[in-house]
Amino acid sequence: MLGQMSSTLEFSPPVVSHETRDRHSYAFVAERMWLDFVNSDNIVRGSDALYDFERFVRWLEAAQLLDAERAATMRRRAVQQPAGALAVLGDARRVRSVLRALAERGETSHDIRNEALIEINRVLGRSAGTRRLELQGDGSFVRAFVPVGDAFAGLLIPIVESAADALIVRELSRVRRCADPRCGKVFQDETKNGRRRWCDMSTCGNRAKAARHRMKLHR
Ligand SMILES: [Zn+2]
Repeated sequence: MLGQMSSTLEFSPPVVSHETRDRHSYAFVAERMWLDFVNSDNIVRGSDALYDFERFVRWLEAAQLLDAERAATMRRRAVQQPAGALAVLGDARRVRSVLRALAERGETSHDIRNEALIEINRVLGRSAGTRRLELQGDGSFVRAFVPVGDAFAGLLIPIVESAADALIVRELSRVRRCADPRCGKVFQDETKNGRRRWCDMSTCGNRAKAARHRMKLHR
């Protein structure tokens, strides 16, 4: 049912909440926020969460980095300050490409780690605001960052902080690219033996299994 919804609603005008649908149209399979953000370019599906500001806000909602109230505020700000919204989108694209390089080659390249360091500090250094702990409707707690001044400035903070954590705890060696060369998704391999191959068993993993099965039949 949800799968059906995501395809039929794809091109309809914005409705009350996008969260359920976008949780399905974007993959959150990477085990780390920064890697999910890298995957938001959705190479295979041809859809990009940074295509415009509205899609970016929907991705942030789907990633649970913006609640409905803050998302509404961002949408209002974007109408009032279209140039600011465009700037943050450009910024997000730049951050994402640096983070993709970090995911794919950061373990082996000092230069790429250094470039990521500069980019992370650029985003962190620009933002002023308050860090908060918040209680959610379901009783769980989340960290939040409430920006002061430029409301857009804080949007990328949790993403770059997640990348900063990966550098701090030295876990880049466990970042993998999906074994399907057409896929391009990256993920954190959290399996004990370090042999996770697919971004998602239900998509790429399954396709590979089906292909192996077909090979067997044709032998
Ligand atoms: Zn994949």
